[in-house]
Amino acid sequence: MVVFPSHSPLPTRGFEFQTALINSSSRAYFNKINTNLISILSMAKNNKGRNSKRPQSIKQEEEIADMEDLFSEGDTRKIRASLLDWYDENQRDLPWRRRATTKSGNGKDNKQEEDEKRAYGVWVSEVMLQQTRVQTVIDYYNRWMQKWPTLHHLSQASLEEVNEMWAGLGYYRRARFLLEGARMIVAGGSKFPNTVSALRKVPGIGDYTAGAIASIAFKQVVPVVDGNVVRVLARLKAISANPKDKHTVKNFWKLAAQLVDPSRPGDFNQSLMELGATLCTPLNPSCTTCPVSSQCRALGNSTNDESVMVTDYPMKVVKAKQRNDFSTVCVVEISDASQNRSQQTKSNSRFLLVKRPDEGLLAGLWEFPCVTLDEEADLSMRRKLIDQLLKKSFKLDPPKNCSIISRELVGEFVHVFTHIRRKIYVEFLVLRLKGGMHDLFKEDGIKTMDWKLLDRESVSSMGLTSAVRKVHSMVQKFKQNGSSSNSIRSRKKPKHT
Ligand code: SF4
Repeated sequence: MVVFPSHSPLPTRGFEFQTALINSSSRAYFNKINTNLISILSMAKNNKGRNSKRPQSIKQEEEIADMEDLFSEGDTRKIRASLLDWYDENQRDLPWRRRATTKSGNGKDNKQEEDEKRAYGVWVSEVMLQQTRVQTVIDYYNRWMQKWPTLHHLSQASLEEVNEMWAGLGYYRRARFLLEGARMIVAGGSKFPNTVSALRKVPGIGDYTAGAIASIAFKQVVPVVDGNVVRVLARLKAISANPKDKHTVKNFWKLAAQLVDPSRPGDFNQSLMELGATLCTPLNPSCTTCPVSSQCRALGNSTNDESVMVTDYPMKVVKAKQRNDFSTVCVVEISDASQNRSQQTKSNSRFLLVKRPDEGLLAGLWEFPCVTLDEEADLSMRRKLIDQLLKKSFKLDPPKNCSIISRELVGEFVHVFTHIRRKIYVEFLVLRLKGGMHDLFKEDGIKTMDWKLLDRESVSSMGLTSAVRKVHSMVQKFKQNGSSSNSIRSRKKPKHT
């Protein structure tokens, strides 16, 4: 049986966890703005261990201290002007920032068509950029746009094609939502949604992406708040509250909405994000070249008090602990029984791939047969589980209907998902079918699972997740070298079964 993991819940936040979120420099800032708050904090600190929950009064004080005001009118004007000037001079040349041009039709239609093309490009790029670096995204974006230059082209793609194109970017749900969203908009027969509220109805489009599309493509005066914007705003206003807290998040949206420039909303939003991505970076902000350093409170605090650093803002949030699990993957190569071993060539070998369920982690993606476990299992247990899977799902039942030519442990590696640290054991099993390939795979029972047999070249060229690609390349190296180079354990050749 294949066990698919679910995400582990976030840890409960007790008093100690909250205390860990308040660093010493932030407390120095509190001291400047509210001495009462510090007294309350010290009292609470002295009670550490006795109180399991943070007193409500402290939480409220922190929020009041952090959210005391918006930007002044003067600061707002200066920040807008300085950021836009800086952006005009320094923005990176990125493919999704280039305006699409249309060749035919009257001016009005062209304008709408251009805006919609822009909206589509912004949407694709913003979804790709979530959790992925700009340099990596550029190539994916260009290939995507070449294959599906408009929303209509994308709406006609299959999920498999989209997953293939996305392979290596991770978080595959994002790709599926893009496809579902494109189909929904096209099926609706209307134009591309151009307001935040209409965009929010499209699958996978959240507040951030809606704000980005509406402001950049359709010039709507709406804000965006992503990780870069949070960092810049937290520093500009020296906000010490937990940036993940829903009240603080709301405050960031308010501040961003106040700043957005009514005449160039899209450019302003991009300038704020660009500043966070290039100058106001998490660890090494370039304050000396920053266009808004005069309005930056974190820099002011840091200049006045050497115990404060601008990097103290925003507060560092302790990440949820990753869950460990284990997976045993069996790369099954099937040889045709109609030829003996000396006659076999590479071309008559096929690899068995199975499709994951449509829901859950890596939904709908192809992989080699595998079993996922909550606990570590030894080799014999792992083989037993794989044998059960092959028998139940594919009627592969040696020695009854197939014989084992070889079975080797290839190696192991660790793959990290967002909340899961998975140790993956890789085994390579070569089978010869007694009744021939077609007879066995005709059986009804195996139609309950999507699977396919592919030759090595087809496996190499298909879009696979990075973990599955790693498994495939480990097996290919193993076949070339005749032994594993990935695991100490695998150097000890196991007995064939
Ligand atoms: S002055 Fe420094 S900390 Fe402040 S916004 Fe600019 S780069 Fe960020």
